[in-house]
Amino acid sequence: MQFQTEPSTEQKSQRPLVAIVGGGVSGAGVAYHLLKLAGNEAPDILVFEPRPMLGRGLAYDTADPAHRINVPAAKMSLQPDDPEEFQRWIEANDALRDDPEAQRENGQLFPRRRVFGDYVGSLLQPLLKSGAITHRRAKVAAIRRARDGWVIRDDKGGLTQADIVVVATSHPPPVAPGRLAAILANHPRFVADTTKPGSLEVVRPQDRVLVIGNGLTAADVIASLARNGHEGPVVAISRRGLRSRGHAASPQEPFGDFVTDPASSAVALLRKVRTSIRQAAGQGLSWHAVIDQVRSQGHDLWRALPVAERRRIVRHLRPYWDVHRFRIAPQVEAVLDSAIEAGRLEVLAASVADAGVEGETIRITLQPRHARERSERTFDAVVVTTGPAHGGILQTQPWLGELEREGRLVLDPTGLGLACSERSEAVGADGRPVPSLLVSGPLARGTFGELMGLPQISEHALFVARQIADKLQAAAAG
Ligand SMILES: Cc1cc2nc3c(=O)[nH]c(=O)nc-3n(C[C@H](O)[C@H](O)[C@H](O)COP(=O)(O)OP(=O)(O)OC[C@H]3O[C@@H](n4cnc5c(N)ncnc54)[C@H](O)[C@@H]3O)c2cc1C
Repeated sequence: MQFQTEPSTEQKSQRPLVAIVGGGVSGAGVAYHLLKLAGNEAPDILVFEPRPMLGRGLAYDTADPAHRINVPAAKMSLQPDDPEEFQRWIEANDALRDDPEAQRENGQLFPRRRVFGDYVGSLLQPLLKSGAITHRRAKVAAIRRARDGWVIRDDKGGLTQADIVVVATSHPPPVAPGRLAAILANHPRFVADTTKPGSLEVVRPQDRVLVIGNGLTAADVIASLARNGHEGPVVAISRRGLRSRGHAASPQEPFGDFVTDPASSAVALLRKVRTSIRQAAGQGLSWHAVIDQVRSQGHDLWRALPVAERRRIVRHLRPYWDVHRFRIAPQVEAVLDSAIEAGRLEVLAASVADAGVEGETIRITLQPRHARERSERTFDAVVVTTGPAHGGILQTQPWLGELEREGRLVLDPTGLGLACSERSEAVGADGRPVPSLLVSGPLARGTFGELMGLPQISEHALFVARQIADKLQAAAAG
């Protein structure tokens, strides 16, 4: 990729410039915390984000009222040292006035996801207004090393010189299974990417729907279809047929200790989790309390595991981890449960063995997990809900691929995202950290372990901001 040599559209001030690529919760969080940490010494902070508002990202930019946060509001603060800020913000702004369903009987709040985006946006707004943070509504198209910094080209034709770059682009689009995608490519009701607004509108009320995946995206899709008046049968398949679990009936404190004597293998960790669940039951607590502790101690316990054991966990335990860790909002769970009860929703452990199209009817041959006999089903619509394809992240955007070719980014050995150091600096092909290229959010999971939702996302954003503030301070001290 050639860079033009014309002057930068972003005129550099005397201050260093930190460019953040992606203005979801991770990118906006780094900008917010960096400003707070650096105070008067704050650098120029520029966030590249094509969406109109910072802080929403993929998860909280949805206008669909069926989409709810899947972590109680009391745990979804942008401030790691003030976990209830979001809950207080909701109350102060009467943000649930048109949504009485958001509150559970036990008092926990599960508002619509957009409300969380409103909250993060409200924290950023004054900083944007004052000019302390700049939102550039553009997509980064290329990033090149230039002397001791970086030059960034965006899709609006801008060139920006930055001293430090943070990659916070997190979730790439899902990837539909190749053969199925090829067969259904021209079908009017093949929905390959549900993150596109209005993508489910093609599904008609009586359509027979196949949902590929059984995680939170599948739950979102089934709840959205129900809300849109869909009455036809739905079959949801995944290899193991595991469904995302719900929340505990009442809030519990995390239980167990996974850091004092950390497990050094996948098997030992699994044993520890099972023992802790039994001990928790003895104290009247459910497995939720143990999984919550695994999440909160996730970084330390991940660190204690050799890479080969991390890979073993990803290969063998991840599906079980995902359904216990990614819990569905109770309101969404109720929709799914009643659909199952009414016989409208079938959850199967199966994979697609073959597919064909006759007119607009889709014939799918299913291979059940524990049966030799295949079964053939007919559908009117197929929706892919396998979630973001993080393992292919370097192929999802040309500039990421280019940084890989230049040896500045590589895939993490677990395949969960980008290789990075314990300071969240990208690790290049030579195995050495690139000190001025950092990764914030889920793409750093390979190094930091559990790092997909709140509160870990905001803890990591603060951590990355602190690394940047330290680097800038060290550079200023000469
Ligand atoms: C559908 C969904 C629902 C979820 N619900 C919850 C929940 O309820 N609770 C919870 O704790 N966690 C939830 N999560 C987990 C989620 O990972 C985090 O909560 C958080 O949203 C991650 O934010 P992020 O900024 O890291 O990533 P993203 O939200 O993916 O934001 C990345 C941003 O980067 C931008 N971008 C991409 N490429 C470029 C480019 N080239 N140039 C400029 N900008 C670019 C994108 O436009 C996007 O806005 C959910 C995740 C998903 C996918």
